Amino acid sequence: MSTIFEKIISREIPAHIVYEDESVISFLDISQATSGHTLVVPKKAYANIFEMPDDLLAHSIKITKKIADACKKAFPLQGLNILSNNGEVAGQTVFHFHFHVIPRYETSDVSFKFTNHMNETSKEDYKKRALQIKEAL
Ligand code: 5GP
Repeated sequence: MSTIFEKIISREIPAHIVYEDESVISFLDISQATSGHTLVVPKKAYANIFEMPDDLLAHSIKITKKIADACKKAFPLQGLNILSNNGEVAGQTVFHFHFHVIPRYETSDVSFKFTNHMNETSKEDYKKRALQIKEAL
């Protein structure tokens, strides 16, 4: 299914494009979670990271680093988040894989809250979960 990003890529709708090459485009996120919030989007539409070919993913993260460096140069940022939401449950709203580049100016400008479940996680749980991942690799 076509998403709003394909319309931006084909110039059907406008966006503040900051970078473009044969396979990747980067433009300001309309929400501007912080000043300079930018998206890095592979031009070919894959819904999520699970569907992304390795070479395109590698190029996309390379461009993400380029955008991060440019943000660092352009803005008085104190830090920066790079994130990708994959699946509705993970907060994805546009089902065309992308990275968010989010400049950070202060601790409270965005809230990413991870709950620490360390106290409820037994040694066996850690061991089992690590083994499940290792066996799936
Ligand atoms: P997700 O929620 O899938 O991780 O991120 C999708 C992002 O796309 C959101 O942060 C949202 O603000 C942004 N977005 C949605 N529609 C548009 C649009 O029309 N133009 C731009 N530039 N960004 C958009």
